[in-house]
Amino acid sequence: MKDVRTDGQPKRVFIRTYGCQMNVYDSDRMADVLRPLGYALAEGPEQADLVVLNTCHIREHASEKVYSELGRLRAAKTERRAEGRDLTIAVAGCVAQAEGEEIIRRQPAVDIVVGSQAYHRLPELLAQVARKAAGEGAKRAPGAGVLDTEFPPESKFDHLPSPQGIRAGSAFLSIQEGCDKFCTFCVVPYTRGMEYSRPVSAVLAEARQLIEAGALELTLLGQNVNAYHGEGPDGSTWTLARLIRAIGEIPGLARLRYTTSHPRDMDEDLIAAHGDVPQLMPYLHLPVQSGSDRILDAMNRRHDRDLYLRIVDRLRNARADLALSSDFIVGFPGESDADFDDTMRLIQQVGFASVYAFRYSRRPGTPGAALTDQVPENVKVARLAALQALVGQQARAFNESKAGTIVPVLFAEAGRKPGQIMGKTPWLQSVYAQGDPRLFGHIVDVRLIEGYANSLLGEIVVGPYEVAA
Ligand code: SAM
Ligand code: SF4
Repeated sequence: MKDVRTDGQPKRVFIRTYGCQMNVYDSDRMADVLRPLGYALAEGPEQADLVVLNTCHIREHASEKVYSELGRLRAAKTERRAEGRDLTIAVAGCVAQAEGEEIIRRQPAVDIVVGSQAYHRLPELLAQVARKAAGEGAKRAPGAGVLDTEFPPESKFDHLPSPQGIRAGSAFLSIQEGCDKFCTFCVVPYTRGMEYSRPVSAVLAEARQLIEAGALELTLLGQNVNAYHGEGPDGSTWTLARLIRAIGEIPGLARLRYTTSHPRDMDEDLIAAHGDVPQLMPYLHLPVQSGSDRILDAMNRRHDRDLYLRIVDRLRNARADLALSSDFIVGFPGESDADFDDTMRLIQQVGFASVYAFRYSRRPGTPGAALTDQVPENVKVARLAALQALVGQQARAFNESKAGTIVPVLFAEAGRKPGQIMGKTPWLQSVYAQGDPRLFGHIVDVRLIEGYANSLLGEIVVGPYEVAA
């Protein structure tokens, strides 16, 4: 049944996404689940009848932002109610999974808390909220939100409608979820559950749908995507490399990426695929977290510095122009100056195109939180600044090295200056050029003029890809 407002207008949902690309994918799928109920997308919370916060629990700061946003939404809900209307508030994602009951206790204005494996049940949860509202009217007790944070026996993927989430020629495709690695700093195994790989046939069907609907680029997603071990049509287990080769054969696909990978799961076939699958883009995000063996061991990363460096060499042998990016955590408990120096040396040795670096954040329930030798915050701040200065130089050098070349750019959105559009190179660099917005979703040859710290300036090469004005 479709939800309509008393004024006959369709209901609107605003979904705010925090955190990683997997959450972006989940938000798109929540929109897909709500569409058959009549929910159109709202531009902001002000226009919405339902607001969903799709949350991230990876660092303390990320979780706390959710509670501040809930405070603002509670005020909006009170105002709406004074006008005789309502605002339904739902919290989804990893904070919902980890702190479900706590959210309802701390913020009674929340109507729904739904975990990352249960959001296909949103229609039923909304119906429960409506039944409660009808039964209890204005007397509805605070803290009466409905909660579904189970890891249901059925896979949500079997209950989701066809995906619609293509933005300017690019789409995410979730192929794997959860993680069994239990790094001692990380909440993912607790919030996303054990490792699960979608069957090959489901992934290929979704890939075909997305490509037919206009995706030129697919990014395969998983918390530990290269641990993929999905069941193939013949009952055998497929690796990520095999899946990539099969997706690469679907006509119409120009670009393929995957993220996030663990060094331990970079097998030979996957490394080889970087050399022989033309659609696989020459950019890989391969988090290492630290360059110190002592810290890698304390983090339970199951790889050392040497293994990481050997994988990088093998990848570069397979694909000479491969650009690498990584995640680093500074100030993990017990990290000494010498350990941090090892991290800086590893960065110098590898040379990264981009890096995401974080101060260690103590996450309740993880083994790292119980360690006694926590690093003082001011030390973490100083180390992060030093690391960012180094990787900033590397990113700029990498961007500058591409100046003067002509590269294909997938244009996606408006640029910063009037008349400018922005797109991505095969190495995931942002390129700004003067161009027509009708180029969004097209791959166009661009001459790169100048490289900066975070982007490049380019000019569109006149040619067959030009869109007539
Ligand atoms: N699966 C990926 C891997 O093995 O590296 C990482 C996924 S995690 C969602 C994304 C990044 O968040 C991690 O690579 C790590 O750098 C960072 N992160 C996770 N837990 C953290 C914590 N407690 N404090 C700071 N950063 C953290
Ligand atoms: Fe978290 Fe990645 Fe480690 Fe899994 S492998 S526990 S997702 S950091």
